[in-house]
Amino acid sequence: MDDLRKRAKELLEASAVKVVIGYENGTENKTRAIFVEKPEDTGKLIFDSRCIMNLASYLTKHEVKNKGKMAVTATLPVMRAIIQLASEFQVNDSNLLVLGITPESKLIEFKDLAEVESFVHKYQIEIDVRNKEMLDKIDKMPASERWNFWIKELAPCFKCYACRAACPMCYCHRCTVDFNQPQWIPVPSHELGNLEWHIMRAVHLAGRCVDCDACYNACPLAIPLNLLTKRMLIDAKEHFGGYQPAIKAEHLMSTYKPDDKENFIL
Ligand code: SF4
Ligand code: SF4
Repeated sequence: MDDLRKRAKELLEASAVKVVIGYENGTENKTRAIFVEKPEDTGKLIFDSRCIMNLASYLTKHEVKNKGKMAVTATLPVMRAIIQLASEFQVNDSNLLVLGITPESKLIEFKDLAEVESFVHKYQIEIDVRNKEMLDKIDKMPASERWNFWIKELAPCFKCYACRAACPMCYCHRCTVDFNQPQWIPVPSHELGNLEWHIMRAVHLAGRCVDCDACYNACPLAIPLNLLTKRMLIDAKEHFGGYQPAIKAEHLMSTYKPDDKENFIL
C-alpha cells in the first residue's frame, strides 16, 4: 500500500491533518491500530486482508479527536460507520478526512463526506452466506428452542465489553451497563444479566449497526452476538421499506411516518 503511505506522509508534512489512523503489524500475525503523527512514521502503515478492525471506533474518542484533524484508513464497513457517525453529529468534514480503500484494495481519497456517502451507497450491505444460513436456522426454531439457544450462547459472556469497545456505534461516554445507581443491568455474569446486556445492546444498535463484525472479532469467546444485530438489520430492511444504515439524512429510530404499522404494540 505505497499509495496510502505516500498520501499519509504528504498530508502530515503539509499539516493538512494532525494524525493518520491506520493499521500496523501487531503480534501473532495480527494487525492493530496505529496513530501516525510524524511523516517519518508513515512507513509503518500497512493494509491487507488481516485489517478487519473498524477504525471508526477511534473517531469519537477524545484522546484522538483532541489531536486535531484526523485522517482515517477506511474500508467499506469503516466508511459506512463514518457516515452513520456523521448522521449522529459525531464527525464532520472539518475534523475528518477519509482515505478510502475500495473493495479492490485501491486507495480512494474523498473531497468530503458527501462523496463518501455516495460511494458507500453503490454497495448494499449483504449478510454473508455462513451467517445467513445460521440466521435461517435460528428463525426456523420454535420459540422455546430459540430462547434456549440464546441462553446457551450468551451464558459464557463475562462482560469484558471488548465487543462494545470495538464497535464504532458504541460511543456513549457512559453506557447503560456502567450505571450502578440505579443498576439497570446486573454486573455479574449470569443468565438474566447476560440476556439483559445483549438485548439492550442489540436494541441500541437497531438501524445503526453497519454489519462490520468488529464486535464478534473482538470477543475472546467467539460469542455470535453479531447475529443479533444482523437480524435487526434484516428486519429493518424488510419492514421499513428497504432501510439500510449509513444514510446521513435518515434514522430508523428517530423518523416515523403516520402510516407506520402499529401491530407490534400489544
Ligand atoms: S454492532 Fe458489531 S457489527 Fe454492528 S457496527 Fe457495532 S461492531 Fe460493527
Ligand atoms: S466481548 Fe464477548 S465476553 Fe466480552 S462482553 Fe462482549 S460478548 Fe461478552
